[in-house]
This record gives sequence, C-alpha cells and structure tokens, in this order.
Amino acid sequence: MADKRDIRSMTPEELTEAVTALGEKAYRAGQIFQRLHRDCVTSFDDITTISKAFRGILSNNFEIFAASIAKKLVSEYDSTVKYLFRLHDGAYVESVVMRYKYGLTVCVSTQVGCNMGCRFCASTLDGKQRDLTASEILAQLYAAQRDLGESISHIVLMGMGEPLDNYDNVLRFLRLVTDERGQNKSMRNISLSTCGIVPKMYALADENLGLTLSVSLHAPNDEIRQRTMPVAKRWSIEALLKACRDYTQKTGRRISFEYAMVDGVNDSDACAYELADRLAGMLCHVNLIPVNEVAETRLRRSKRERIDRFRRILEQKHINVTVRRHLGADINASCGQLRRQTQKQDQETAATP
Ligand code: SAH
Repeated sequence: MADKRDIRSMTPEELTEAVTALGEKAYRAGQIFQRLHRDCVTSFDDITTISKAFRGILSNNFEIFAASIAKKLVSEYDSTVKYLFRLHDGAYVESVVMRYKYGLTVCVSTQVGCNMGCRFCASTLDGKQRDLTASEILAQLYAAQRDLGESISHIVLMGMGEPLDNYDNVLRFLRLVTDERGQNKSMRNISLSTCGIVPKMYALADENLGLTLSVSLHAPNDEIRQRTMPVAKRWSIEALLKACRDYTQKTGRRISFEYAMVDGVNDSDACAYELADRLAGMLCHVNLIPVNEVAETRLRRSKRERIDRFRRILEQKHINVTVRRHLGADINASCGQLRRQTQKQDQETAATP
C-alpha cells in the first residue's frame, strides 16, 4: 500500500483539499485541524467531532506522527526537563524545557543528527540521519506540553540539527505552530538559530516573519571560525555579517549572536576587541555561552574570570552582551549527548544474542 500522508504537516488549505477529495464537506477540515493542533490528539478515534465512518477513511489515508517519551530527565537544581523522544521509525531526537520567569521555553530539534560538523557539538558527530518533518518538530512541543500539563509559551529552534538546512519543513512548522486555529503561538516568542547558511538567511529575511534570528558566530574572524566550524569555509564572516545586517534592515529585529567560549581558542582579549569592532553599530546582542564539554572533543570551557573579562570588554565597546546561565547542568541538558548514549545502548542490545 502507498505510504499514508503525514496529516499533521498539512496546512489548513491542504487539509481542506484532501477532505473534500475524500467526499466530506470543507468545514470538516477546520474541525480536524483544531483537534490535531489545538487539542493535540494522537489518534483518529479522538477526533470525535467527525463521524466514525470518516475517522475510518482518515486512518486509511493518513497517519498522525507522534513522539513517544523514551527518556525524561529532570534537573534537581532548576527543574529543567530533558526529553529523549522516539519517532515512528525508531529515530531519536532531544528536546529541553526550561523554566523562566516569563514562562516555559522548549528547545526543539529540527533534524536527526546534523551535517554541519561543528567541532564542539555532539549532535553532528555521526552526521545527519534525516530531516524532521514539520509534524515531528511540532510533536516535540505537543508531547512536552501534554507530559507537563502546562502550556509552553516560547520556542527555540536550537536543538539538534541545522534549521536552515531543513528550510521548507521548518517554515511549515513555523506557519503551523502560529496558526490561530491551532496552538496560536506568537512569532515574537520564537527564535531560530543557524550556524550561518547565508543564502537561506536572505530567504528568511524576505519572509519577514517577526521571529528572532540567532546566529552561531563563535569567533571574531575567519581563521578562528574555520578551526571549529566547517560552514565558515563556505561563507566568510564578512558575507555572514552582511546577511545579518540585511536581516535587521528588512525586519527591524535585532540579531542575537551566540558565542561559545572555548578555552584558548576564541576567548582572548584580542578576540573580544576584534569582535566588538566587527559588530560596532549593528542592531545586535551577544550571548556568551561557556562551552559545554563533550566527551568526544578535546575542547575545554573558558574560565569564569576569562568570560567576565571578555564580557566587560564588549560592554566598554557598547555591545549588548549577556552570559548564558547554565541550566540543567546535572542532566547534560545540551542536545546530542543523550541520543548518542541511547543509540549505543540500542545497538548493544540488538547485538546481544
Ligand atoms: N544548528 C544551529 C542550531 C543548533 S545548536 C546552530 O548552529 O545555530 C544551538 C547552539 O548551541 C548553537 O549556537 C551551537 O553552536 C551551540 N552549541 C553546540 N554545541 C555546543 C557546546 N558543546 N557547548 C555550547 N554550545 C554549543
């Protein structure tokens, strides 16, 4: 039998077309969309607003991809929750829910693995397995909300994967998650983080969605950036920052730069001055992140005093800067590591006679 269609990735318009093609009235599509995205049902049987017969027709033609919780870790320090989700094909992705004063934020993954090859990152160690569909990105949010029994107001696309390397599905996700008939989340509360895929940044600027763009800069110049980020060989910092300026001009939104502090690599005074010069006059904010040490890499976190000094230099140069709080330290909350451990265990179990 032909593959069933992924119903939760479909826009209301696509759903209307499909529902009418199957002989139902167009307005039924709205009811189905609402049950799928507002109430987050995971079975056609739960779409009780439509007839049993049509539920049967739907389940013959479509599938609802859900994410099941394979592991859940809760930080004892700050109640950060980390989920390892298992998808319908057995692939794993990680998501993290953080509690801030203004509400809950979920960090979702956009790919299984990643092809970008950043040296400090655990998600990319085995390359990319596949892209996530829009419904699989949504499923992480829906499953977390259901599990916690709370609504999540903020979303960051900063989990595993490079969102702009999965552009169409990510755009679809953004449209679906902000649809007022579904979750009705606010674009203003969504951030997308990229390692700097320049042409897609221009494309995103043209969409003018009103979300926050975060850019993983991690270095003040090409020479240092190329040491840890292969993407820097494809596009220079100059080209990257030009795309950032274009983004701020087109959207009026400031860019948030992520700068993971790695001992002896990018944390010198000279780096801070060079970074300040590069960003002078730009509508932006710099987020210094003490790098999370990943077992497989030899990169070490900068010392606290070094980070403070780096921050002060940027402040003197009038660059907006903050140091990211390290949440979920006891549960290894940064993405990529839990999936690797679990995959390894699965392989060992499968290999045991
Ligand atoms: N691919 C996207 C989003 C995913 S990663 C991107 O590169 O922006 C989210 C952020 O975590 C990025 O800034 C990434 O560079 C950073 N990151 C990855 N591994 C890290 C580590 N070990 N310590 C600190 N930050 C890390």
